[in-house]
Amino acid sequence: MARTALITGGTRGIGAAIATGLATAGYRVGVTYQGNDDAAAAFRQETGIATFKWDVGDFEACRAGVQQVTETLGPVEILVNNAGITRDATLHRMDPEQWNAVIQTNLTSVFNMVRVTIEGMRERGFGRIVQIASINGQKGQIGQANYAAAKAGLLGFTRSVAQENARKGITVNAIAPGYIATDMVSAVPEDVLDKIVAQIPVGRLGHAEEIAQAVRYLVSDEAAFTTGTTLTVNGGQYMT
Ligand code: NDP
Repeated sequence: MARTALITGGTRGIGAAIATGLATAGYRVGVTYQGNDDAAAAFRQETGIATFKWDVGDFEACRAGVQQVTETLGPVEILVNNAGITRDATLHRMDPEQWNAVIQTNLTSVFNMVRVTIEGMRERGFGRIVQIASINGQKGQIGQANYAAAKAGLLGFTRSVAQENARKGITVNAIAPGYIATDMVSAVPEDVLDKIVAQIPVGRLGHAEEIAQAVRYLVSDEAAFTTGTTLTVNGGQYMT
């Protein structure tokens, strides 16, 4: 029977590409989103993929949401933690709200989602968890101390939870995308983006589908020996 995959923030951008890629590969797929009902409706209509609305930064909402997903699609065997936001400012201008919002949505959300799904994965002896981190969590970025801290935090989380669950058939990995053409990157001013593209050896922004391909490998049954790793997909912009 097809495995069930849940992608957070899967109605737009990278998450939507991951969801459609997995659905095309035969997985039973659900996606979450937070507030953009129009984008979710358009995604649902275009793909037929089930959408679920809750804030992944809220632990109890994650618990209730995952229960609803389980009733609709079956137990979550594959979890892709993709939902993320930016609230950019240099640190000397950053206010606590900007810091807290990014930590909550990009890092605490991953604790929430993994915490409410991992016991079932351990009981069933199978699980695939992928965090969508970022190049800026690896190298740092002006104006993104909050975002870089959250994304770097994901890498330590990934390695720890990978070790804890390796004997249970569960792999836990991260992908660190470079700059990918999505709504998030459209928010970057054009002159800044031109300078960023000039630093990418491949000479262009990435496509969301190129991250989706990496996810497809990591969540496959065949990737059972790959755990605790960070897969860098950035056009050569930062080589680790
Ligand atoms: P988008 O802004 O295009 O989409 C973000 C998605 O996350 C939306 O579906 C949004 O829902 C959802 N979301 C945001 N906050 C929450 C929340 N609190 N609860 C539930 N869902 C939420 O982002 P991208 O596709 O560009 O980015 C996806 C991931 O990839 C992020 O983690 C980002 O940090 C990371 N990344 C992106 C890069 C890029 O170049 N684009 C580079 C490196 C990493 P809604 O539509 O309702 O707002």
